[in-house]
Amino acid sequence: MSERAAPFYCPYCGDEDLRPNPEGHGAWECAACNRAFQLKFLGLLSRGLQRNDGGGEQI
Ligand SMILES: [Zn+2]
Repeated sequence: MSERAAPFYCPYCGDEDLRPNPEGHGAWECAACNRAFQLKFLGLLSRGLQRNDGGGEQI
């Protein structure tokens, strides 16, 4: 898994005109709505990848 994640759409306006922001890693700016935002990978979920399709299970 790469460190950098590139967004395909702006999370605020949905536009695709995103450019990397020189402020830091994972920082992007949207040319459409003029917002700057940052993506951060928080880590894997503790519950893993297993699916729980049954209802009423404990979390
Ligand atoms: Zn935008």
